[in-house]
Amino acid sequence: MVLALLLARAGIEVTVLEKHADFLRDFRGDTVHPSTLALLDDLGLAERFARLPQRRVRTVQLPVGPGRSAVTVADLSVLPGPHNYVAMVPQWDLLDLLADEARREPTFRLRTNTEATSFLTESGRVTGVRYRTSDGRTGELRALLTVACDGRGSLARSLPELRLRRFGCPMDAWWFRLPRQDGDPSGLVGGAGEGFLTAMIDRGDYWQCAALIPKGTDAERRAAGLDRFLAGYAAAVPWIAGRTHALRSWDDVKLLDVHLDRLRRWHRPGLLCIGDAAHAMSPVFGIGINLAVQDAVAAARLLAGPLRRGTVGLRDVRAVQRRRRPTTVATQALQRTAHARFIAPVLRGRPPLGSAERARRVAGLVAGSPRLRRLPAYFVAYGALRERPPAEAVRRPAPDAGTATGAPHP
Ligand SMILES: Cc1cc2nc3c(=O)[nH]c(=O)nc-3n(C[C@H](O)[C@H](O)[C@H](O)COP(=O)(O)OP(=O)(O)OC[C@H]3O[C@@H](n4cnc5c(N)ncnc54)[C@H](O)[C@@H]3O)c2cc1C
Repeated sequence: MVLALLLARAGIEVTVLEKHADFLRDFRGDTVHPSTLALLDDLGLAERFARLPQRRVRTVQLPVGPGRSAVTVADLSVLPGPHNYVAMVPQWDLLDLLADEARREPTFRLRTNTEATSFLTESGRVTGVRYRTSDGRTGELRALLTVACDGRGSLARSLPELRLRRFGCPMDAWWFRLPRQDGDPSGLVGGAGEGFLTAMIDRGDYWQCAALIPKGTDAERRAAGLDRFLAGYAAAVPWIAGRTHALRSWDDVKLLDVHLDRLRRWHRPGLLCIGDAAHAMSPVFGIGINLAVQDAVAAARLLAGPLRRGTVGLRDVRAVQRRRRPTTVATQALQRTAHARFIAPVLRGRPPLGSAERARRVAGLVAGSPRLRRLPAYFVAYGALRERPPAEAVRRPAPDAGTATGAPHP
């Protein structure tokens, strides 16, 4: 949606196919990072965004095991500028805002209930997609460039020449809701129990909870009984104990498969993959959405010119991968380290980083050094590489209006 909005503002004909009827699904993360907040400022959408219901989170913590306190790995409040927090906004609200804004452009079309089912090709070049609508109609849509932004189950992954590289992942996620009450903590709350880690997203009147469990243990744990899991959850997050009965059966607990992988090639003539389609991200550090948005911004900037000229060559799509791959590799390497050093040991009931003492030393080192505190904060906030939108898409407010928060960007 970000790519479509930027290209439509640059005067390029864009059609977005979305297989669902709307964006209202709760299995997405809610994190809107400083890089996206700065982008919304650049697009003149900061005020509308500020009106969406949201919570602000300033620290990223990794719980280090049952009964132990969490380690703060990034503290965004040390960052200069107005956006020193992650805004927690239900992703459907953000997507609706972007779609509404894009609809103002005469060159934008959103076709919901329309699933891309295969690629059209001519002489080795992708020339569009075949689609099927929810009422069973089929059709073809031709395009100078097809961008696969269809997530980790992307259609593009069926193309053998793009070659998928999978990295192991020690966990899957259970996804469920618990009621929220006045007086609860707000924002993002973490915890660790016997064989699971949890992150709870504050969505106003309920908590969207994720419990990370060791990969492949869903069936065995369900067989052990819901009561056992709820007792463990209540022990790990004592203030929610009286409300865990809101989960009446395992039907209220969805299993989300966690993957970490990357295509070796993100393109072929006429086709580009971005976001999870090119590189599926784990939920660790909550940075997958950020990365997907930044891919879109870079793609818009690098491709708006060739698209307008009507000639998008292999060199143009390759430039997007060349630009975005290093930051993707670095981010996935960090996630893999967190999987191996923190998550896998904790899920096995062992201390992270080999020993509890070492974990405490690392936490102390980060907490004691302003520079070390700023580095992970900057990485979570902006990623390894910050992207600027194409000039034609920018709609900054009048100079004296500043940003939505009234202060300049760092
Ligand atoms: C359990 C879990 C929790 C996570 N939590 C966070 C978090 O808190 N913060 C964070 O930053 N990242 C998080 N991530 C990672 C994040 O979800 C992804 O990195 C991010 O959603 C990628 O965005 P995307 O737009 O590339 O793909 P997606 O968000 O997957 O969007 C793909 C879209 O394409 C549509 N689609 C799919 N196939 C087709 C088709 N054939 N035709 C038409 N439409 C199609 C889908 O309906 C969907 O709307 C989490 C991941 C997991 C597994």
